[in-house]
Amino acid sequence: MRQASRLALPLLGWAVLLSPAAQSSEKPGVETHSADISKRKLTPKDFPRWRELEANVYAYEGLHSPDQQGAIVNTVSLIVITGDGVVVVDGQGDVPQTKAMIENIKKLTDEPIKYVVIASDHTDHVGGNSAFKAAYPNVVFIGSPASKQHLAKDANPPTMLVSEQRSLRLGAAQIEILNLGRGHTGGDLVAWLPQAGVLFLGEIYLRDVFPAMRSAYPTEWLATIRKSVYLNATWVIPGHGFIDDAPIMKRELDEARQALAYVIEEAKRLRAAGYACESAANCPAAEHANWGPYNDWALRSSQAPLAIARVYLELDGRLPET
Ligand SMILES: [Zn+2]
Repeated sequence: MRQASRLALPLLGWAVLLSPAAQSSEKPGVETHSADISKRKLTPKDFPRWRELEANVYAYEGLHSPDQQGAIVNTVSLIVITGDGVVVVDGQGDVPQTKAMIENIKKLTDEPIKYVVIASDHTDHVGGNSAFKAAYPNVVFIGSPASKQHLAKDANPPTMLVSEQRSLRLGAAQIEILNLGRGHTGGDLVAWLPQAGVLFLGEIYLRDVFPAMRSAYPTEWLATIRKSVYLNATWVIPGHGFIDDAPIMKRELDEARQALAYVIEEAKRLRAAGYACESAANCPAAEHANWGPYNDWALRSSQAPLAIARVYLELDGRLPET
């Protein structure tokens, strides 16, 4: 059940989704599987925007910088207002966008941001984290041991580590930080709010984005998605991609899982056919790929060779530990 917004402002932030142009993309038969904001007739000035999923739980969308083809997707953060401080799960990609998010959170509550969970340690989700520290010097960064290693040279590595599971109980909220297994990175975490039924999957769930595998663990990623389904969440929220109503988000998670499985199988076929892919930059196999229904997904041209190269590494048993 969706709750009414606390303020009119968040509704305004989301009003664009209610426009006929945006809704048409969800009609059967004309649905576009692309997270490219232009496919929803949106422009960068429509961002950031946010939506209250359940009482005091918001999905917030900033912008990811364009890929080589000019496609722009969003970067999604989760905001939980607990009554005893705010918890943010995944930041934005740079300081100005993270500052903007902090200013927008201040419009929702005067509670300070106490914790920032690093679900994905990639730059487009942590690149602005120094803005949290500047605004709230006591903020605690939570991440996996793998993310700590990956962010060792970063100004704000995680100091509270989650290897498997950690419960945050703040105010009225219960937030379970879970490590469900490797996926898009070697250290993905998810945030599960059992009371609200909200599961933020970060980059384990890329909605209508071609499976991005630069640092992925392809087969384990599939298993991690399957595990997440057992939580039986009402809301599943991606790290990139549009936030529509809850049933659509669940259906689209299954689409993302199928896309991932397809890409893995296609890379296996290419390898069995003898096509080489030494690296993303030297990947003749990409020219022989058939991406079927996933050909038009956002970032396909930049991500496809990376995906093939990564699956080849897995098949060769050469994936790094983290
Ligand atoms: Zn990302």
